Amino acid sequence: MLDEALSCTRCALSLTRQRVVLGSGPQAAALMVVGEAPGRSEDEGGEPFIGRSGTLLTTLIADELGLARADYFITNVVKCRPPENRTPTTKEVAACRPWLDQQLALQRPRVVLAVGNTAARAVLGHQAGVGETHGLVVPLGTGVGVATYHPAAALRGGPNVVAVMRADLAIVRKLLAS
Ligand code: URA
Repeated sequence: MLDEALSCTRCALSLTRQRVVLGSGPQAAALMVVGEAPGRSEDEGGEPFIGRSGTLLTTLIADELGLARADYFITNVVKCRPPENRTPTTKEVAACRPWLDQQLALQRPRVVLAVGNTAARAVLGHQAGVGETHGLVVPLGTGVGVATYHPAAALRGGPNVVAVMRADLAIVRKLLAS
């Protein structure tokens, strides 16, 4: 099962990673946050979203949803760091898919928040980028999913992107409350 993921060699990212970054948070949390792939900090620390963009995401979720990291499950589409933080390839996403599918089946989240294009495409099935699809509520197996920008885009794009992320999170708050 997921223990096997810790020694996964299903793609070449296994040759360059320091750690498999599976995810963190309680089992069966109502909210599951899914990002793209670990960066340098996560590859070193073994936990998703603990670097600069993670700090922003954690703060926005705390502000808008009133949730701490211990209240939701957080993971990535791809569990190993791509070299130079490049976008994972379609093959890498496909190779890693069984682990994400197992996590979704175990967690059965009511709401999935997909952050960034890779997660929005892989988890919610969006074809277009998050610029067009953010904030849309999509039915999923056990609940619903909403996409928003990746916090790295907010770090580059500034207050306007942060404002859109806050508005998307307000949608998530209502979904969790309903
Ligand atoms: N970016 C991601 O998509 N995931 C992380 O865990 C860190 C940075």
